[in-house]
Amino acid sequence: AKRRHGGVSGYDPSMDHSDTDRLTLQSELRRGIERGELVVLYQPKVDVTTRLPCGAEALVRWQHPARGLLSPDVFIPLAEDSGLIDLVTVEVLDQALAQIRRWEDLGHELPVSVNIPARSLTDATFPGVVDAALVQHGVRPGLLTLEITESAMIADLLRAGETLNELRKLGVKISIDDFGTGYSSIAHLRDMPPHELKIDRSFVMKMSENSRDESIVRAVVDLAKNLRLRVVAEGVETESALRTLGDLGCHEAQGYHISRPVPAAELTDWLSKSDI
Ligand code: C2E
Ligand code: CA
Ligand code: CA
Ligand code: CA
Repeated sequence: AKRRHGGVSGYDPSMDHSDTDRLTLQSELRRGIERGELVVLYQPKVDVTTRLPCGAEALVRWQHPARGLLSPDVFIPLAEDSGLIDLVTVEVLDQALAQIRRWEDLGHELPVSVNIPARSLTDATFPGVVDAALVQHGVRPGLLTLEITESAMIADLLRAGETLNELRKLGVKISIDDFGTGYSSIAHLRDMPPHELKIDRSFVMKMSENSRDESIVRAVVDLAKNLRLRVVAEGVETESALRTLGDLGCHEAQGYHISRPVPAAELTDWLSKSDI
């Protein structure tokens, strides 16, 4: 089995395809990126106390001409295997920064998070790519958060540490995605402190049924607060989960109960109505 981005899940949707199908999809992906078929949706995050939007996560989709709208679970693993992932990252980064700029021009200052694959952290040129994109779009680095999974951090600790330091120096924010599903996370918090922890949705989704999950969420929230990090819960599907997160003191929440990932224009409407 392959190491999946951010995954503990044993199910690998890319395995559903035969080898030839995978190859076809890979070559189609290269063309699709060139033709502008990657679409970025935005899933808002709310401040748990005020329930107002306080950020958004950029989530990529592939508008395939024949197969319809494809989920990242289908093509991100393929992109990682074929080396196309860097093209995907640059494309999503570009679209997200352009969107941050557009929102700023409308008077909405909304931080946006972009998912960064493991291998970008062992790529010494990556911080320069991010810097150039920020400058090109005229976006303040503090408005960009890079979400990185723990597996990315252990892939090559030394090189990852150097890249992370360069990114921090740029002024972008670092978030550890899917926190709690990787390995030796606590040591990373000491050696390469991020700005934010994102609690994996597997813990958040079943909080109300499973008191162990609630204990884990509570422990991560406390850990984050003691280390003075922001803490975000993803996979918030119910009102009761949102309330529990409020009781636990979690800062931000993201999930279907708040909103599905939506086109930018839909989020713009909400920002206007909320006076953000
Ligand atoms: P992730 O980074 O953990 O993103 C959160 C996923 O959870 C998203 O799935 C989102 O739609 C879904 N989600 C949000 N709220 C809920 C909820 O309340 N309940 C449930 N069950 N799910 C929820 P999505 O958009 O299908 O993305 C899947 C994964 O694909 C992401 O997981 C991320 O690892 C990867 N991905 C997405 N966009 C990108 C990208 O631009 N670059 C890279 N490298 N990976 C990406
Ligand atoms: Ca995940
Ligand atoms: Ca993420
Ligand atoms: Ca996640």
